[in-house]
Amino acid sequence: MRKQIAAANWKMNLTLAEGEKLIKDIISAAPELGAGREAVFAVPFPYLINVGNLLKGVANAHVASQNLAATNNGAFTGEVSGAMLQSIGMKYAVIGHSERREYYHESNEILTEKVNRAMEHNIHPIFCCGEPLSIRENGSQNTYVNSQLKESIFHLEPQQMKGFVIAYEPIWAIGTGKTATSGQAEDMHLHIRSLIENKYGADVAGSVSILYGGSVKAANAKEIFSKPNVDGGLVGGASLNAMEFCEIMKSLK
Ligand code: PEP
Repeated sequence: MRKQIAAANWKMNLTLAEGEKLIKDIISAAPELGAGREAVFAVPFPYLINVGNLLKGVANAHVASQNLAATNNGAFTGEVSGAMLQSIGMKYAVIGHSERREYYHESNEILTEKVNRAMEHNIHPIFCCGEPLSIRENGSQNTYVNSQLKESIFHLEPQQMKGFVIAYEPIWAIGTGKTATSGQAEDMHLHIRSLIENKYGADVAGSVSILYGGSVKAANAKEIFSKPNVDGGLVGGASLNAMEFCEIMKSLK
């Protein structure tokens, strides 16, 4: 059975002290996650080690980076490499978030390199895809997401795709308070799973966790996560509130 994941994306928020308090509050109030369910915290680079230490001993909870460099170590001032993240025990890295695509011009080609650097260093990508509003309005969201997946992850070998994590995040729903309906999420997740099945077969497709992201909160998580092809969520704003995120964790199937 594929993993069900509640992933927090803190983005560029919180001081270290605020972040540590948030994690401690979540640890004390969160449900124990059994096998097959995970909580993942994508926190700013400077907090990765501290948050990782706080999560040690918490069952099925992991820290994640929000990005990693497309290149290996070298003269790339300001970048953080897969090797560096591997050396501090990173399990996951968010790759291709729409904010990185939009503000830092990360193309599908650059994201291919980032996915490759992660895989080379045994870091599991949480690969983000999703369409802007104009594409949703003209009804071509499936074609748009096809290209994002084909151009950035469909070069992977079947064994690399097994257990892969994708986050479908319609851009018009991120940080806007406007959530896709559970039906819209399910339709796209089913589409993504079918694409994977066509390329890699049913066994691999069934093993891929597809998270929904876009204004997930305690009040809507259960309904969205109840859909058969939705395997949890990538959560921005609501992940900065301990009680909200604990409720979202409780909403995992
Ligand atoms: C995100 O940051 O990936 C996200 C989905 O943000 P929000 O939950 O705030 O819409």
